[in-house]
Amino acid sequence: MRQLASERRRGVRRVHFVGGEPTIHPQILEILKVSKRLGFESVVVTNGVRFSSPDFCHKTFPFIDEIIFSLHGHDAETHGHLTGNTHSFGLMVKALENASGKGKPRLCVNTTVTNRNLHSLLPITRLIRPLGVRKYHCLVIVPLGRGKAEFLDLSPRLNECAAVFPQVAKECWEMGVQFLVSGLPLCILGPYYLCSLDNGGEYVNDRTRSGEVIFEKEPGDPNNFKIDLNRIKVPKCRECAVEHLCSGIYGQYHARYGDAELNPFRRPG
Ligand code: SF4
Repeated sequence: MRQLASERRRGVRRVHFVGGEPTIHPQILEILKVSKRLGFESVVVTNGVRFSSPDFCHKTFPFIDEIIFSLHGHDAETHGHLTGNTHSFGLMVKALENASGKGKPRLCVNTTVTNRNLHSLLPITRLIRPLGVRKYHCLVIVPLGRGKAEFLDLSPRLNECAAVFPQVAKECWEMGVQFLVSGLPLCILGPYYLCSLDNGGEYVNDRTRSGEVIFEKEPGDPNNFKIDLNRIKVPKCRECAVEHLCSGIYGQYHARYGDAELNPFRRPG
């Protein structure tokens, strides 16, 4: 809570509570109250388990601006397999229902996409259709942290992504849900390439994007990080009309599968 106060004094306006699972912190309610009192926009990223309790929702909702539910499958089998908890899907559905409706925090959903749940993305868009979800963010697995060792085993094939992602983007657009994607070359998104959040292939501290507060150059700041994800461009990218916007393909993926799945955008004229 001291850190919240200090960051607020430095001009930070938005805070993400992420995990692990932030809602199991024994002082989560107090922390959220302090965050609200300090004037932060508070975002909670969650597996939804605690929000399946109406009582927990009742206590915490007044102090949360946005909840991002991590939904990794459209059914109990897929979501449960990826979370390691067979009951997690049922609890997630209850949580989403509890968080749906007027006067509640903004409701958002994210999915970490691998080759185990690529088939779930379209059904997930249909699942969230009646709930009033504002934003759906798909993060394709990155070679970082736990994803690094298993990256190639879990990475979905790009041609399969190209068959799914534009369709998901289209359905989200039709139902007024903002669709966002991280981790894919832009050509895989086709006409929906502007849904990409990628920024030069780097993970950049969110605080650098506030438009007002730039901490990027501060030495010794533990929250100030840039990580090389080894995204590369291949010779055919030189002819691509959006090359200047695109982060390219992961080097590891390219080493195994080559670049045949990439389709450069034609330059006008
Ligand atoms: S062809 Fe290359 S530069 Fe163009 S979108 Fe695909 S990966 Fe990006």
